[in-house]
Amino acid sequence: MIWLTIVSTRRQINNNNIRVKGMSCCSETHPSKRHDCPECGKSCLPVKMQTIFHQVVFPDNQNTPEGDYAFCPNHECLTGYFSASEIIPKSKLHAFENGRQALLCHCFDVSQPAYRAAIQSSTHEAIKAFVVQQTKVGNCACEARNPSGRCCLADFARMEKAAGQA
Ligand SMILES: [Zn+2]
Repeated sequence: MIWLTIVSTRRQINNNNIRVKGMSCCSETHPSKRHDCPECGKSCLPVKMQTIFHQVVFPDNQNTPEGDYAFCPNHECLTGYFSASEIIPKSKLHAFENGRQALLCHCFDVSQPAYRAAIQSSTHEAIKAFVVQQTKVGNCACEARNPSGRCCLADFARMEKAAGQA
């Protein structure tokens, strides 16, 4: 029963995702077939080779075989990208280098703790408005900077929702 609730919440988030699509810069052309993370089992979205080559540190990026990869966004999971034959750990990705805070928006450096704190002090709308505005005019670079290769605006909504439920 609890599982069903989670599934229906996920569906709502996905619907929100579609609604903010008009504002997002680079999530239009992605394939959407999900793959389960071999380590944590999370259902993960596919990612383009372009993103992987930007995200994986040198020299590993030059030795990464091309393939159908997906990205595991679970911060507790060590797996970063995976395909049927390859696993690239998060420790090989710029976004997860030692000591870096978990980022919500990789293009404009908004960390998850910073946005969570802003929600608590009701100052988050201005932060999101900046990201939305810059995204609208095409000043984002999600395909290169976000390890998911996707626009982060849906993640802002997800975090607001999670904070509201807490
Ligand atoms: Zn995982």
